[in-house]
Amino acid sequence: MARRALPGLRLALPGLALLGALLLPSVARADEEAEEDEGLSKKQEWLRDKADRGGIRAHRPARGAEPVVSLHNLWTGEVLPLRRAPVQPERWSLFLRCHHTNQRIEMDGRLLDLLRRAAARFHASVVHIISGFRAPKYNLMLRKKGRQVARDSQHTHGHAIDFRLPGVQLAALRRFVLAQRLGGVGYYPRSEFVHADTGPVRSWVAE
Ligand SMILES: [Zn+2]
Repeated sequence: MARRALPGLRLALPGLALLGALLLPSVARADEEAEEDEGLSKKQEWLRDKADRGGIRAHRPARGAEPVVSLHNLWTGEVLPLRRAPVQPERWSLFLRCHHTNQRIEMDGRLLDLLRRAAARFHASVVHIISGFRAPKYNLMLRKKGRQVARDSQHTHGHAIDFRLPGVQLAALRRFVLAQRLGGVGYYPRSEFVHADTGPVRSWVAE
């Protein structure tokens, strides 16, 4: 896997060893839900650039059409346009499947509602998805590699999502998600994403 850092998703590998020391004092149990920060391959980088250039047709609503928010999965390059009609649970779960094993699990629909609300609040037309479902096998692999991922991560239950809104201040997005009190909220300024899950209400900051 390419380890070249991207402007939007810098690898935190050199920092991982120091993560524990860098966590803020108020952070609770950060080690339980720290992220893998796998970095994106060149293919994913290309897909993202393509999406950013508007190369994906779903991104351009026709005149008069209702506003569309597009979810971009940075690992698969897939785009899921959100319209007013509900997204079928199967579609949602497929979209957030484990990119490493291709396995899927029923993803919590409240996370989709959260993305809708966040996009509406910040008038965002694009949501970048960094992580959704993580198969337990993949999670274990990341742990063995020394990545600080939780043993029983909410990602392995289909209860967590890592995302950002391009062009929206991450700190503002974090405040918004915290105010929702949906569950756990992790702040990853270095990798530029917010983790949200539907587990117990708690929060942490990584570096
Ligand atoms: Zn996460």
